[in-house]
Amino acid sequence: MTQSKNTAKGTLYVVSAPSGAGKTSLLKAVLERMPDLKLSISHTTRQQRPGEVDGSDYHFVTVEAFKQMLDEGSFLEHAEVFGNYYGTSKIWLEQQLQQGHDVILEIDWQGARQVRKLMPECRSIFILPPSQQELLNRLTGRGQDSEEVIQSRMAAANQEITHYDEYDYLVINDEFEEASHQLASIFTARRLRLQSQKIRQAALINDLLG
Ligand code: 5GP
Repeated sequence: MTQSKNTAKGTLYVVSAPSGAGKTSLLKAVLERMPDLKLSISHTTRQQRPGEVDGSDYHFVTVEAFKQMLDEGSFLEHAEVFGNYYGTSKIWLEQQLQQGHDVILEIDWQGARQVRKLMPECRSIFILPPSQQELLNRLTGRGQDSEEVIQSRMAAANQEITHYDEYDYLVINDEFEEASHQLASIFTARRLRLQSQKIRQAALINDLLG
C-alpha cells in the first residue's frame, strides 16, 4: 500500500471478544456515535441466522467460493471458527485506509494475529465480560439451549479469553454505556494525535499561522 505525502491514512482497528462479551452491540453503539468509522464486512461460510442480512452482517458464501477467494489471495486474513470459515477481503479495506478512513475488523484472535503481523501499525482491542457468572448468564440467553450447547459455548469463550494479553487495549463490558464510551475514546484519542491532526486540520493551521 503506497501513500502520498499529504494524505491522512486511516487507522486499522482489530476488535476481538469471546461471544457473550457484547462486542457487536458495543460496536453498533459506537458506530452510531461515530458514523465515519467503517466496519469491515467479512466473508463467511456459516449459515445465515434469522435477522441477518447478506452483504450487511456478512457476505455469506459457499465453501467453494471461499476457497476460490483464498486461492486467489483475496483475503488479508482468514480463520476457521466453530467449524466455519471467516475471512477479511483485502480490496475494500485497502481502499478505505488509503482514503483516510479508520476501519474496524471484528475478528477472532487467530485473525488478529495475522493482521498484526501484516500491518503492525494496527491497534487491537479486546473486550471482556465482567465475570464468569455474567458470561454464563449472557450465553444462556433465553434458556432455549441444552446444557451441552451452553457448556460448549462457555468453553469456546474461555478459550478466546486466554488471548486477551495479545491486544493493545482492554475494555470491560460491565455497564454498557460506560464501556461504549471507553471504546469510542480509544478511536477518538488516536484521531487527535498531532500527526493525524496536522493533516486533517491543515487548512485551519495554515489560517492560524497566517
Ligand atoms: P459469528 O459467527 O458468531 O458472527 O462469529 C464467530 C466468530 O468469528 C467471532 O469471534 C467473530 O469475531 C469471528 N469472525 C467474524 N468475522 C471474521 C473474520 O473475517 N475473520 C476472523 N478471523 N474471524 C472472524
